[in-house]
Amino acid sequence: MSTKDQNATALRAEEVIALVNQILQPLSAERVSLNDAVGRVLREPVCAPEDQPPFDRSAMDGFAVRLDDSGLEFRMVDEIRAGDWKPRELQRGETIRISTGGALPGDNLQVVMKEDVQADGAAIRIAQRRKSRNIRFRGEDAHAGQVLVEPGTTLQPGTLALLATIGQAMPLVTRIPRVLHLATGNEIVAPEQTPQRGQIRDSNSILVRAFLKHWHVEPEQQRLPEDEAVAKAESGKRKAEIENLDLLLISGGASVGEHDFTRRLLEHFGFEILASKTNLRPGKPLIVARRGNAIAFGLPGNPLAHFVCLNLFVRVALDGFSGRGPSNIFQRGTLATTLESDRNARETFWPARHESHAGRIQLAPLRWSSSGDLTSLSMANALVRVMPGAADLDAGAEVEFVPTIC
Ligand code: AMP
Ligand code: MG
Repeated sequence: MSTKDQNATALRAEEVIALVNQILQPLSAERVSLNDAVGRVLREPVCAPEDQPPFDRSAMDGFAVRLDDSGLEFRMVDEIRAGDWKPRELQRGETIRISTGGALPGDNLQVVMKEDVQADGAAIRIAQRRKSRNIRFRGEDAHAGQVLVEPGTTLQPGTLALLATIGQAMPLVTRIPRVLHLATGNEIVAPEQTPQRGQIRDSNSILVRAFLKHWHVEPEQQRLPEDEAVAKAESGKRKAEIENLDLLLISGGASVGEHDFTRRLLEHFGFEILASKTNLRPGKPLIVARRGNAIAFGLPGNPLAHFVCLNLFVRVALDGFSGRGPSNIFQRGTLATTLESDRNARETFWPARHESHAGRIQLAPLRWSSSGDLTSLSMANALVRVMPGAADLDAGAEVEFVPTIC
C-alpha cells in the first residue's frame, strides 16, 4: 500500500477536489483550424496584428463630404463600394456615394446617410445635415499589438469571429485528453442486449461518454468481466494506449469486496493510489490514482454515485487538463421545497433540478431512494450539498449546489 494513500481517512469532497487540482498540469497545446476550435481553450495571448478596423470605414450607406464644407448641394464625383480602395482629396461641393463598410477616400470627412439626401442624377441635395460622422475609425476597436484574447479563454463563436477578423486562422489550444474507460462487472451487458436473469444493462458507459463530450473527448471504452486475470489479459492488449493515456476511468469494483480489483488493476498499470475512500453519499468507494501527469479514477459502479463522482471530481481533472484554470464548481441557491436529509453522517450530494426565477436560483430536490436510482439521475441538473449530520432543510433555505454537466 502506498504511503501517500490517504485511505485511513475518508476524504471530504473538497479534499478530493484539492487533491486532483494539486496533481494536475494542463496538457500540451496544438494548433487547430478555426473550424475545429470551438469550445477549446486558448493557450497563448492573441494580439491585434494591426489597428482594428484597419482603415476608416463608412458605417452607413450614404454620401461622403468634407467636414469643413457646410453646404447642402453637392455634385457626385464617384462611387465607393465595400472592398474598393480609392483614395482622393474631395473638393468643396463634391461628394462620393459610399456603401456601408466602404473605405473612406481620405481624412476629415463625414458620411451623410442616404435617408437624409435627395439625388437627381449627379446632383445631390442634403435635406438635413446632422452632426454624426457615421464613420468607424481606424483603431476604434483595438490598436496594433493590443491583447485581444487572453490565454485560458474558452473559444466561443464570438471569439472565433474575432480571431478570423485578425487572420489568426490556427489558434494554439490545449490538446484533447486521451481517455480510456473500462466498465467492469459480470452482470453488465450492452444496452441493445436483453439481459439474462441476474444481469443488467450497462448505463455507465453512455453516461461517461456523454459527460466527456463537454470536453470534446471521444473515449475508448471496453467492458470487462469481474475477473482480475481476465481484466489484466484484456487490458494487456491495449498496452500502448494505457501507457499514453491522460485519464483512466474504471467503473465498478472500487470497493473493498473480495472481487473488487480496480485498485490492483491500477497498480498493475503503474498508478500510485492517492485516495480510496470518501465520506460522500453517494460515492463512498472512490479511488484516485496518478502516474506522472496521468490521473485515474476508480468509480463506484452505482449510476448515481457515478454521476456524482463525474460531476464533482472527474470534471475538475478535465478542467485542470484544459488549462482553463481551477474552477469553482459550487454555486448558491435557494431550496424550492423541503430536503429531508435525515441527519446523515455523510456529506450528501442530493440530485435536484435548478431553475432561475426572477434572477434567483431555485432548487427542487428530487426523490431519491438509492445510489442506483436512475429516475432521479435522468432528471437531475444539479447536486445539492448537504453537510454531514445536517437536519432537514426547509424550503427557502440557502444551500450550495453543483450544476451538473448538461
Ligand atoms: P460495484 O461498484 O462494482 O460494486 O457496483 C455497484 C452497483 O453498481 C452494482 O449494483 C452494479 O450492478 C452496478 N453497476 C456496476 N457497473 C454498472 C454499469 N456499468 N451500469 C449500470 N450499473 C452498474
Ligand atoms: Mg462490480
